[in-house]
Amino acid sequence: MLTDTIAAISTPIGEGAIGIVRMSGSDSFKIIDQLFRAKSEKSTWEDKKFKYGYIFDEDRLIDEVMVVKMHAPNTYTRESIVEINCHGGAVPLREILRLCLKNGARLADRGEFTKRAFLNGRIDLAQAESIMDLIQSKTDRGFDIAIQQLEGNLSKKINHIRHALVQLMARVEVGIDYPEEDIEEITYQEIQNDLQRTSKILDDLLKTSRTGKIVREGLKTVIIGKPNVGKSSLMNALLKDARAIVTDIPGTTRDVIEEFLSINGIPIKLVDTAGIRETEDIVEKMGVEKSKSYFNTADLIIFMLNGSEQLTEEDHVLIDKVKGRPAIILVNKSDLEQNIEIDYIKKQFESHQIIYTSMSKDIGVEAIENAIQYMIDEGGTTSTQSEMVSNARHIALIEKSQLHVNEAIKATINRLPYDFIEVDVKEAIELLGFITGDSVSSDLMNEIFGQFCLGK
Ligand code: GDP
Ligand code: ZN
Repeated sequence: MLTDTIAAISTPIGEGAIGIVRMSGSDSFKIIDQLFRAKSEKSTWEDKKFKYGYIFDEDRLIDEVMVVKMHAPNTYTRESIVEINCHGGAVPLREILRLCLKNGARLADRGEFTKRAFLNGRIDLAQAESIMDLIQSKTDRGFDIAIQQLEGNLSKKINHIRHALVQLMARVEVGIDYPEEDIEEITYQEIQNDLQRTSKILDDLLKTSRTGKIVREGLKTVIIGKPNVGKSSLMNALLKDARAIVTDIPGTTRDVIEEFLSINGIPIKLVDTAGIRETEDIVEKMGVEKSKSYFNTADLIIFMLNGSEQLTEEDHVLIDKVKGRPAIILVNKSDLEQNIEIDYIKKQFESHQIIYTSMSKDIGVEAIENAIQYMIDEGGTTSTQSEMVSNARHIALIEKSQLHVNEAIKATINRLPYDFIEVDVKEAIELLGFITGDSVSSDLMNEIFGQFCLGK
């Protein structure tokens, strides 16, 4: 099943300077020999050294290429790999791929190269997933975490925890299997201490997940405020380009505009909303619905008020919604005469940071960036613990296994028979194994590798 040879275009299709077609499997050398003619007759193949020449389809010249052969098992997949570097356009790439397939290769599934690396034991599952994170990472910090995960930091930690649980299990089992023997029996207290230690370690890992998730997916930040307060101007100031439309007509930000920016390496997913208010306009209504859902799930809200006007009914509605949420309050248009009821605002947002800004005079943008950074740092979010958990699948598995560990602790406290403890500890061990792929079903594998792009 795994011995067949797979091929795929491994670079994005577009106008790149070079593109790569890659093959992996026992026939890959044989197949390239049928397509490739070296420029110099005398040159020989050396492992992992490029050879210059041409790809031919029968006698038709397809492209000028550099080809490298990599011998198993010291390759990405642990199988023999051929990489054909050709010109980057869609035509040569597709033609060369077609020729590989015509000569016996099969088109690779999504992520199949990495899947083979996993199945052939070169990397574990968490490492495979980090490769995907690397490809998709949006900022330097996300890239750092993925790199560390690729090096196996998370896997090492998880294996360590599993190992401790397995050892505990072994000791408990002795008590179950040979109750009469004179083996030194583990006490309930010892089991409890052990499990509590494990639960704490899992807890620490989960604490890193908030940062991990933010670093990976971005801090979901929503800018809200009634029409015309300056939301789009702020968005532009933060992005320093003119994506969102700035106008004098209230309600021109018809839809939700989403952008990524990076503050000290933390990706911020920034959303400019159409305002959370009722409207008859259908197009605007769609934006409003989206705004509401963004608002409800945001990690951070930037709430903008117009300092030059008195508060309106709409402001009051928003003030009530924002209270109690993580938010930064902006009093904009500070360059104009101020009419806003500022004491009332201060009272409403006693525990929030209030910043006076002027988008037209470019005042306060840096203060906003600092405030965002501060919000991220609260809760130790920027710690660079190397075994940071950032992947949603991993987080869910750690949470579940911790639940089982805690169940086992309860059973211990209640002095239930050892079997009861064992059931939960075994479950926890298995769940942790899903992270590294030590216990893994083919469904899970398909799900994970199916998220890869083609050719990876
Ligand atoms: P939005 O509807 O909340 O997105 O508001 P916009 O960003 O589209 O801005 C509405 C209008 O207010 C535009 O004419 C801006 O130039 C203007 N504006 C935005 N910020 C300021 C500011 O700080 N001071 C002044 N005087 N005008 C501003
Ligand atoms: Zn706007």
